[in-house]
Amino acid sequence: MSVVQIDFGKRKRARVVGIDLGTTNSLVAYMETPPPKVIPTPEEGKLVPSIVSYTREGKIVVGEEARRRLITEPERTVYSVKRLMGRGIADVQDELKLFPFQIAEGSESVIRLKLGERTFTPPEISAFILRQLKQNAEAHLGEPVEQAVITVPAYFNDAQRQATKDAGRIAGLDVLRLVNEPTAAALAYGLDKRHDGVVAVYDLGGGTFDISILRLHEGIFEVMATNGDTHLGGDDIDNLLLRIALEDIESEWGRDLSGDNSAVQQLRRAVVKAKEELSYALKTVIDFEYEGRRYQRELTRELFEKLITPFVDRTLGPCRDCLADAGVRPEEIDEVVLVGGSTRIPLVRQAVENLFRTRPHTELNPEEVVALGAAVQAAILAGSVEDKLLLDVTPLSLGIETMGGVVSKLIPRNSTIPASATEHFTTAVDGQTNVLIHVVQGERELAKDCRSLARFELKGIEPMPAGMPRIEVRFLIDANGILNVTAKDLRTGKEQQVEVKPSYGLTDDQVEKMIEESIEMAEEDFRQRQVREARVEADTILHAVEKAKQDEAYEALSEEEKQRIEEAINQLVVAYHGDDHVLIRTKIEELNNVTMKLAEAMMNAAVSKALKGTKL
Ligand code: ADP
Ligand code: MG
Repeated sequence: MSVVQIDFGKRKRARVVGIDLGTTNSLVAYMETPPPKVIPTPEEGKLVPSIVSYTREGKIVVGEEARRRLITEPERTVYSVKRLMGRGIADVQDELKLFPFQIAEGSESVIRLKLGERTFTPPEISAFILRQLKQNAEAHLGEPVEQAVITVPAYFNDAQRQATKDAGRIAGLDVLRLVNEPTAAALAYGLDKRHDGVVAVYDLGGGTFDISILRLHEGIFEVMATNGDTHLGGDDIDNLLLRIALEDIESEWGRDLSGDNSAVQQLRRAVVKAKEELSYALKTVIDFEYEGRRYQRELTRELFEKLITPFVDRTLGPCRDCLADAGVRPEEIDEVVLVGGSTRIPLVRQAVENLFRTRPHTELNPEEVVALGAAVQAAILAGSVEDKLLLDVTPLSLGIETMGGVVSKLIPRNSTIPASATEHFTTAVDGQTNVLIHVVQGERELAKDCRSLARFELKGIEPMPAGMPRIEVRFLIDANGILNVTAKDLRTGKEQQVEVKPSYGLTDDQVEKMIEESIEMAEEDFRQRQVREARVEADTILHAVEKAKQDEAYEALSEEEKQRIEEAINQLVVAYHGDDHVLIRTKIEELNNVTMKLAEAMMNAAVSKALKGTKL
């Protein structure tokens, strides 16, 4: 595998942020000068839970506020949506068993999630998270943020990468680059400034496990191999503890809570809390109260470790495969980087250390390290840091279907990207004028067992005996891991090209529509804010008028004037309870007008009172 350095040339400096769009938590970081920093949320936290809720008032809430609504409004709230990104309904059957996703009817090529009376696609849901991060960054930096680098698991296929880019677009972000999460982590640790060697990045988050082997050579990283499991992480541990607790409760209370969304969410929080505590304490208590009853269960680290050993072991297979793919032995690993909240678990750290025979890096917060690395990449793209590119690899092989449904691989998995490959094909039937190019992704031999990415036709081939035409197929993967396929009839020069739009995913038109809708939604958000602000103002004036009614000056008004004031108060109160901010403001204005004389009288009285006490 060759090592390439790519020069981006000179670019104008711009605000580019780095975003870790996680399954469990998301965060945004920024780097003006090293080191990169995580941008705090308005509540002074750093992680934004990747949870979105749609309120009865038609408002979108994200993060902690949405997390609270997992309990009160589970039917309107969604988490772990990253699991659905760029996937079709057939792909997600396993998820549906464990996650309370509410798939809208008629979801086929594009999944729609039902939140109350509206439906949203996974990229739209992710866009709400991204928009929240964008807002946090804008509030913190005090200027608009329109460009971002977003990280994705190394295992994400083309469809999932496209869906992530779509989410960025819907959120009003220009996604300059998608970077593999482990690749970002290596940058965050600044390992490029170390001596040459081999680095393993072990990332165990909430929903995904990734292992990557990088080679550092003369200040440039090359990703030698990646492996992992898209269904392995802290969530699995949570689900296991949840099942145990549910069974316990059923035998203690004689009541099966597993069908009760709200109870399950609440219990999930209790077991997650216990799990996280066990990373620091030797024992803890799962503590859960529901409808007046209480369940408590002591959990020791010893028992916990016994329970999770199978999960930890499941990460080791992919690690060994990854080492084999990279062609390195464990003792050749010089440095190990830990990423993801679940690597705080001591048993995980121990297992990693045993396997790679190296004490892993834990200096940076494992939940922040990916976003920090994304910020470094962002700074590189913004031109504020010397240009440098981390090389990524393709997670799965890419090829086309040929005679008999067999796959001809053009780009093998773990190829360094950007990558391109060209191969020549011919026709199978005499006089054939069209060929169907079927692009697939996967490791299996038969196209039907691989993931179908796209189909397109090259037309207008000169009719000739089978085997005579020469058709050149060229695959080009850009730095984001997005595939472009060209087929060319070498005799006629006719060419067909597609940027591979995954068979599961959104069309450009759908994305456009979502962007429009999200603007509508933003208008709705804006309107809601106007209403709230108008109400605050109304409160202030109503309060002032009530106070003025106690004043002597009020008594001095004519009955007719008093009547007019009462009338204006009533009208403002009615408007206050509606949601028309223009009407509220009109009524504020009217009340202001009819109380003008009263205000003047009070002012004069106050002035003369003040003068009375003044000795000249
Ligand atoms: P993701 O990349 O999937 O968004 P994160 O890297 O944010 O995930 O990690 C989230 C996971 O880390 C959750 O499962 C969470 O419970 C787990 N986690 C966080 N802190 C701890 C801890 N102290 N001990 C064990 N697990 C933890
Ligand atoms: Mg992560």
